[in-house]
Formats: sequence, C-alpha cells, structure tokens
Amino acid sequence: MTEKIKKLIPYKYYLIEMSPYRPLRLDCEVCKTTSSFCGHMRLNTSNGCIYLWHYQCQDCGKLTYSDEKAEKGTIVALQEACECGGQFRRDKNIFCTSCHYRKSDENRSEETRTATKKQLEVIKKSNDAEEMTLQFEKSDFFEFVEE
Ligand SMILES: [Zn+2]
Ligand SMILES: [Zn+2]
Repeated sequence: MTEKIKKLIPYKYYLIEMSPYRPLRLDCEVCKTTSSFCGHMRLNTSNGCIYLWHYQCQDCGKLTYSDEKAEKGTIVALQEACECGGQFRRDKNIFCTSCHYRKSDENRSEETRTATKKQLEVIKKSNDAEEMTLQFEKSDFFEFVEE
C-alpha cells in the first residue's frame, strides 16, 4: 500500500490579488518545484513607469508578464495566446507550473478578457479564503486533512 501524503485543503489564490511586495512562493507538495507568483512588476523607464501584470497560461501553466490594457473594464486575459495555444489569465486559481498540481476544471480559456467590478469582488473574497475544488481530492496519493 502506498502511503498517502496528508495535506491541508489548499486555498485558492489569484494573480490579480497578489501583492508585488509579497510574491507568493508556491512550493509544490507533489513535484517539489517552486513557482513564484506576483501580481505585477513596476519598471521605471525614461518615459515614466510601466506596470507589467503577471499572467498564467491556463493550459501549460507558463507564467508571463504583460502591460496590455483593456479599453473598458479590468483586463484579466491576454489577447496573445501562449505558444501551447492556451490562454493567459490572471483571474483563475494558480497552479504548479511544473506538474499542474492545484489545476482544476476552472482553469480554462474564456471568451471574456475583462472583468467587471462585481466579478473582481468575488475573486477578492475567494482569494486565500475559498477551498479549492480538485480532482486530486479523489486521488489515491492524497488524504486531505482539516486544520
Ligand atoms: Zn501554455
Ligand atoms: Zn508540482
């Protein structure tokens, strides 16, 4: 019998909610890879400062920065697709860039590339507070425990 890894039910985290001063280091409990997530990065240039926002490909998990802006509303997805064909978003629960642990059905491409104030409020409430819904829950490798 394989020994199960006991772990807490992990919470959801969103790139859009992350502070650049407190980047989130996700030490994956499955593959041990460390992924670093941060909300945005500020670049000081001769033309003033530029903000680069952090996005994650919802397919392969690759991270990228972009200064793309929306004409209306808050941008949450990039127009340009990842080289794998996936969509870069920052309004979805983050997952391990290597083994995709924490990835769920919610991690997928969407038609909408902007979020309304109401949608942003929902994300804010869920960040670091809502438990993940995972296929891993039924995995033989995990046994979820509550704190
Ligand atoms: Zn990708
Ligand atoms: Zn991993």
